[in-house]
Amino acid sequence: MKDEHDPGLLSFEEALRHITDTVQPLTAQRCVSLREALDGMTAQDVRAPMHVPPFVNSAMDGYAINSMDLPASGEKRLRVLGKSFAGKPFAGNIKLGECVRIMTGAVVPEGADTIVMQEHAKVDGEHIVISTGHTKGQHVRHPGDDFSAGDTIIHAGERLTPAKLGLLASTGVTELQILRKPIVAFFSTGDELKGVGQTLRPGDIYDSNRYILFGMLKKLGVDFLDMGVVPDVKSEIEHTLQEAANCADVIITSGGASVGEADFIKQILDDMGAVKFWKIAMKPGKPLAFGKIGNKLFFGLPGNPVSAMATFYLFVQPALRLLEGEKISPSIQLKARCSNLLKKQPGRKDFQRGVLQVNNQGELIVDTTGIQGSHMLSSMAKANCFIVLPRDAGNVEAGSEVDVLLFNGLI
Ligand code: AMP
Ligand code: MG
Repeated sequence: MKDEHDPGLLSFEEALRHITDTVQPLTAQRCVSLREALDGMTAQDVRAPMHVPPFVNSAMDGYAINSMDLPASGEKRLRVLGKSFAGKPFAGNIKLGECVRIMTGAVVPEGADTIVMQEHAKVDGEHIVISTGHTKGQHVRHPGDDFSAGDTIIHAGERLTPAKLGLLASTGVTELQILRKPIVAFFSTGDELKGVGQTLRPGDIYDSNRYILFGMLKKLGVDFLDMGVVPDVKSEIEHTLQEAANCADVIITSGGASVGEADFIKQILDDMGAVKFWKIAMKPGKPLAFGKIGNKLFFGLPGNPVSAMATFYLFVQPALRLLEGEKISPSIQLKARCSNLLKKQPGRKDFQRGVLQVNNQGELIVDTTGIQGSHMLSSMAKANCFIVLPRDAGNVEAGSEVDVLLFNGLI
């Protein structure tokens, strides 16, 4: 209880700001093919080498006509000269009184400036009959409608989504410069931890954090190295940290970051690097170590799996994005009505686990996953969001509006 009101606790926002102020983006670039660039960060602006669309073409299946043939009243009869299909343009031009059968994406022939949809044309042998109600220039797509040659279509520092790959392909780009991805080395600390497949002795548990970190790092698309479980032995932790610092940009450990008797991480890091041990006014995830070993970033996550996940999601994720050159904006929170009473003590910002759904009235409703122990991964596994409760808030009554932060598929 005393702890909750400890003025020495760092606020969540201060901790995050300190981390984001510390991270310097990696600068190394490499040239990759379009497919390989997916999910990467662009290193340079990309200008379009050509207009898209490249030529005047039809937006509809129908007939290409000259707008001077559009009847002001009554009907107009036009002779069908031939066909223009996508990839098989009509060789020739049209004069007044003539038209060409045309398909979506096909070149609009010289002399035509308007498309009449096939549903609005009556076919009569070699002719069509059209009536009023059309507009000059309708259903025609023009070169550069999407973008013009020379336009910057991708800027440096953008994440390459499928839509952006398609955009680049539409203008014939085959390869581009992207920034190097961070390399992350991680290990778990604790004498009690065994890998799955090993036999548990009395007092042992299985290591879940390396699976959590594997999953989240894989989904983030960074390169990583799992260095296993390291027992609470000073020399072994020291050695593994040194090895991690030699091969990675970022080192993540879990466990041993609080002040238990076997928690060596602090002593070791005091000797090795500039790492701060924080008590953050948040729940889960109060103890967190952050800093640098040489020029490598270090995160010492709490051992409890729910705390490790929450601190990874909230602190490590933005740091990795920044390191890869992404510009970070504050995460988008939604407002939802909470179905349940939520227990909370004032003093720490809570990230409780919730399930966000849309009810039959189309409203966002969030349910708690139940007991919120930071050792209980089942509540995290059920959830799809954090229910974010402000530091000073107490219990939340059922039916109240709360802030919700979606996991976005990462957890
Ligand atoms: P610590 O931060 O080392 O004091 O650990 C806090 C709690 O988290 C203890 O109950 C540990 O057994 C547990 N814990 C630490 N590391 C892991 C891990 N990798 N997987 C599962 N539980 C862990
Ligand atoms: Mg431990």
